[in-house]
Amino acid sequence: MSYTKIIIHYDEITLKGGNRPFFERALLQNIKESLQHTEHGEIYRDGGKFLIDINKKTNLNEIKTILQKIPGISNFYFAVSEEKSLEKINKKVVELLNSYEQIKTKKTFKIEARRADKKFGFKSPEINSKVGEYVLENTKLVVDVHNPDLEIVVDIGIKECFIYFDKILGIGGLPTGTTGKLVSLLSGGIDSPVASYMMTKRGAKLIFVHFKNRTISGASDGQEKIENLTKILSNFQGKSKLYIIPFEEFQKEIIAKIPAKNRMIVYKRIMFKISEKIAKKEKAKGLVTGDSLSQVASQTLENIEVIYNSTNLPIFSPLIGMNKQEIIDLAVKIGTFETSIIPYQDCCSFLIAKHPETKARLEEIKKQEENLEIENIIDKIISEIKCKIF
Ligand code: ATP
Ligand code: MG
Repeated sequence: MSYTKIIIHYDEITLKGGNRPFFERALLQNIKESLQHTEHGEIYRDGGKFLIDINKKTNLNEIKTILQKIPGISNFYFAVSEEKSLEKINKKVVELLNSYEQIKTKKTFKIEARRADKKFGFKSPEINSKVGEYVLENTKLVVDVHNPDLEIVVDIGIKECFIYFDKILGIGGLPTGTTGKLVSLLSGGIDSPVASYMMTKRGAKLIFVHFKNRTISGASDGQEKIENLTKILSNFQGKSKLYIIPFEEFQKEIIAKIPAKNRMIVYKRIMFKISEKIAKKEKAKGLVTGDSLSQVASQTLENIEVIYNSTNLPIFSPLIGMNKQEIIDLAVKIGTFETSIIPYQDCCSFLIAKHPETKARLEEIKKQEENLEIENIIDKIISEIKCKIF
């Protein structure tokens, strides 16, 4: 049986009251952009859902993979259309069930009628019982209205009826761009890509910033890795900007003028200050990091306080309460893990102290920073940087 439509249900948009059209337009636009290189028919809104016409050339697996990554989509189904005649609907439901490969593992079903067309001759409970009876007579399935293996939706639209049952889950959340722009500090480790994904899921459009460290002989400088991570994250949020900041000059300054135990803290503070400038340039309203409380020395509460104090922008660290294994599981799920674990020169070894400070004091750090040529170098870097788009 060939499917004729994809039915897309969206997530929290339904809660957005008067702003609902804004969220719906954004999601529709994002879906169209993500599918622009795939074969399909029209994509349009129909009541509280989106429909995609599909044809013989449509590659359903390809489209499935793309839709599963678009923030704002709660779930979707491949569906068949039928005329709005109960007799035809009955036959179509059974035909569809018979052509469904996984049917052998299913024992129970329930019909879930939806009726956008209030003029249709039967009310939902009547559709449920009439179609239910027909399925009972013509298949081996038995009814279970509470916990069925299959919930078969008979969706009576205005023009035609849609039948579907194999729910494919999306990632939910809010459409990209609807909550604003943020600058995400992408390190090449496991955590920051996951943090980025979390904020993307909440409707933020992320601008990525990576601070490129000095290459120590032979080691990869990580640029390709960061570009690959950006590409993976762009599957979720669409076209993505990446700024790569050359950091060597700062590292030299820090190593020359800051005591070893405080170097990592000052290094992070400067990263935030530069990210703030990029945020201003991009009209972004905050920063995103992959910090997780006390996972490493720079993430003790004391150090976080001192580091976050370097900027006036709000800083979002969505992994703050997650354990490493939970973060890793999510990295695997979103497809960044394999790339994140490729070895590269993460941080100049001179910045990593044997006994790093774990209880930094803001006054002391600020005093030490007075010796640095921060502003000049930042201005020079900002005037020279270019971003790449993925
Ligand atoms: P990650 O796995 O993301 O590297 P981590 O647990 O290794 O995180 P840190 O290396 O201390 O922790 O970094 C904390 C956060 O600071 C990162 O998640 C990232 O947001 C930011 N960050 C660190 N290094 C860089 C870098 N070179 N470029 C951009 N952001 C960075
Ligand atoms: Mg790291």
